[in-house]
Amino acid sequence: MKKLKGYAGKILHIDLNNMTHHVLPTEDYYEWGGGHGFGAKLFWDLCEDIEAVIDGRDPRNVITIAGSPFSGTNVPSAGGRCEVTNVSVGLIPRNRFTRSNFGGHFSSMMKHAGWDAITITGKAPYPVYIDVRNHHVMIRDASHLWGKDTHETQQFIQENVAKIDVAAGWNAQLDGNDIGRTTQKASVLAIGPAGENQAALGCLIHGAGNAAGQGGNGAVFGSKNLKAISFIGTGSVDIADPAALVKARFKTREFYAVDVDKSTNFTYNGLSAGPAAITFSQMPTEHRASSCHGCVNGCKQRNAIGYGNEVTCQTSVWYLGAVRSYKFGGDAKLSLHNRSIDLTADSLYAGDLANRLGINTYAIMALIPWMQKLHAKGKLGVGKKIDSNLPYEILGSREFADKFCHAIATGTDIGAHFLDGVVPGVQALGHGADVDNGTLDYPYYGMPEHGYDTRAELEWGYATLMTDRDMNDHALNWIYWTVNLAKLSGIDLPIPAKEMATCFVEKMAPYIKPDEVSAMDYASHNMYSEVLARQVQWVNHYGRFWKNSALMCDFRWPDCVNLQREDLRGATGNDEVGEHVWWNAVTGEDISYVDGIERGRRILNLDNAIWVLEGRHRDDAKFADYIYDKKLTYSKLPTFLWPATNEAGEWDYRDMLGRSHCREGVETWKSHYYRAEGWDPDTGWPTRALLESMNMKEVADRLEQVGKLGKEG
Ligand code: SF4
Repeated sequence: MKKLKGYAGKILHIDLNNMTHHVLPTEDYYEWGGGHGFGAKLFWDLCEDIEAVIDGRDPRNVITIAGSPFSGTNVPSAGGRCEVTNVSVGLIPRNRFTRSNFGGHFSSMMKHAGWDAITITGKAPYPVYIDVRNHHVMIRDASHLWGKDTHETQQFIQENVAKIDVAAGWNAQLDGNDIGRTTQKASVLAIGPAGENQAALGCLIHGAGNAAGQGGNGAVFGSKNLKAISFIGTGSVDIADPAALVKARFKTREFYAVDVDKSTNFTYNGLSAGPAAITFSQMPTEHRASSCHGCVNGCKQRNAIGYGNEVTCQTSVWYLGAVRSYKFGGDAKLSLHNRSIDLTADSLYAGDLANRLGINTYAIMALIPWMQKLHAKGKLGVGKKIDSNLPYEILGSREFADKFCHAIATGTDIGAHFLDGVVPGVQALGHGADVDNGTLDYPYYGMPEHGYDTRAELEWGYATLMTDRDMNDHALNWIYWTVNLAKLSGIDLPIPAKEMATCFVEKMAPYIKPDEVSAMDYASHNMYSEVLARQVQWVNHYGRFWKNSALMCDFRWPDCVNLQREDLRGATGNDEVGEHVWWNAVTGEDISYVDGIERGRRILNLDNAIWVLEGRHRDDAKFADYIYDKKLTYSKLPTFLWPATNEAGEWDYRDMLGRSHCREGVETWKSHYYRAEGWDPDTGWPTRALLESMNMKEVADRLEQVGKLGKEG
C-alpha cells in the first residue's frame, strides 16, 4: 500500500508492566482507517487472552486512544475527535470490548507530537502519568497527583511541561518545527478520584469538559495506575491536497454551515450550540462559543460565571434532569421541558463538579431519582436497610450535588454499592426487579437510557443490541430534536414527513435504495421489518467508519437534511463536500462514500469477532423486561414525533408515545439483521465465508479454534 498522507506514521505502545515504550508503524494499520478501527485491531493484536479478560480492570486489558487522518486538520467538525477502546467495567451480562469518544484538542496535539494513537497494556507498579513531547516519551511518577481532580491534574502537568526552557512566553520543546517552540499548552487526558478508585462510573476528562464517559474508561486508567497522558508537539499534518481541502471548506461554509441568525437554528446542530440546560431554561449569564479543533459548530461554551465551561449536552443537564425527573413523578421521567424548576446555574456547577471528579454523568442521572424514591419509602437513609448519610431532603441544592458526587467518586456512603456499576449494584442490593420493571431506566447491557427510548426511536435500541453499548449515535436522532423542538416552539416545519424520510434514505447507500422510503417508516406495522434491519446496518457501518474511525463528529455528521439549503439535501455523500471528499483530500486516497461504509462493515465484523470470543451469543441481545411489558409514556419533550405511515399508507409525523416492544417482534427483527450481516441467525456468529470475503481469514481461524464460527448459509 502506498504511503498515505494525513497520518503521523507512528503508534505509541506503552507497556506499564515493564515501564517501557515501543513504536508500532501506523502503516501496518492503514486498512483500519484510524480511531476505532485502530483500537479494535490493536486490541486483537495485543490482548493476550481475549476470552479471559472479563473485567476492564484486568491488567491484560488494552486501552487505545486514537486519532485519525483528520486529527489536527481543519476538516469541519472532525479535526479534534478522539476514540477510546477497551474492555468495559460495570456492564451486563459481562464486560465487553467497547468504545467511547471525546473532543477537544487531544488527538490534534498527539498528531502534532508525531503520533496517530497511543495504546497501553499492563499495570504500573505505582501511580504514573505519560508525558510525551514530540518523540520524547517519559513515564513519570504521579504519586503527588493521586487525589487531585481532573482540572488540577491538567493544570499541574501543563505548568510542568511549560516550565522547561520557557523563553519569552513560548514553550520551548526538545525539537520539532519552528526550532521546537510553541505557544500551545500540553493536551492532557486525566482521571479524577472516581477513576483512581476504579469506580465503574469513572470517566476520562480532557480540558474542562471533554469526557469519554460510557464503559468505565476511568476505572481502566485507575486499574493501570495511570493518572494522565500528556502530549505536546511542534509538528504539523502532511495533507495530500491542501487546495482541495480548503475549497471544500469554503463550499461548506457558504452552502452548508448553520447560520445562527436564521430562525431555522432550532435544529439539532443549533441545539448543540448551547448546553441543554440553557436551551431548556434560561441563560445564566453571557457566554461565548468555543469548539474542538477545526469545528464549525462550536457547541462548547465559555461562561462568564467561571464554572460550567465546556459542559455540553448531557453533562450540563444531568443534575437538572435528575431533580426534575424525581419531582415530576419519578419513573425516570426527564421532563426537561418543564421549566417550573430552574436549576440552570446549579446544573452547570454540578456539571463542572462531575467533570472535576471524573464521573460519567449519564450513569448517575437515572440513579438519583431511584435513590430518592427508596428514601421516600423509608428504605434508604440514616440507619435504614440501605444505610446512607446523604442529605436527601435537600435534593436540588449544591450541597446535595457535592455530597452525592463525592460519595460516587470515592466509593463511600451510597457510592460503595456502585463501584462495580449501577445495575450490578442495584442487583446486589436486592432491587434487581427495579431494572426489570423500569423503575431504574437502564434498558440494555447495564447501560442507562440515553433519552431516546427504543419503543419510539427504534434504531437507537436496535443498533445498541447489535453492538456493545448504548450506541450514542445521533445519525437519525436529528429528526427527534428538529421535529419535536419545532412543535414545542410553534414553528412550522419546512419539510413534510415523507420528504424528511426521503432525504434520509437517499443517503443510506449501499443498503437502502433511494426510493425505499419505508426504511424511515417508524409506524408500529413496520417495527420489525427487514428494511429496518438494513437501515440499522447503514447506521452501524456508517458510524463505525466515518464517525468512530475517521472521527467525524456525531453532532455534525452525517448531514442528511440541511435546512439551510433550498433542496434540503445535506453534505453527506456529496461529491464536493461529502465525507469521502475530505478523506481523499487529506490522505491522497481515492475512495467513495460507500467505500468508507464498506470499511465500517469490516471494522464492525472485527468487533463482533471480539465479542464472540468474549462469549457473545444471540440470546444476550435483549432489552430489559419493561421495554416489552410497559408502554412508553414519557420523553424529554412533550411529544415523540417521527415520520410514519398510517394503515392507509399516508405519511405524517406521528407521536410514538404509548408504544411498547413485543419479544417475538424483536426476535424477528434480530433474525433479519443477522441475515443482512451474513451472521448465523441462530447464534449471531460470523461465518468463515463472510470473514474471508473481507480478507479476515486469521479472524475466522481464531473463531474456529474455539468452535465459534457461524453455520454457513
Ligand atoms: S460539534 Fe461540538 S463536540 Fe462536535 S466537534 Fe464541534 S465543538 Fe466538538
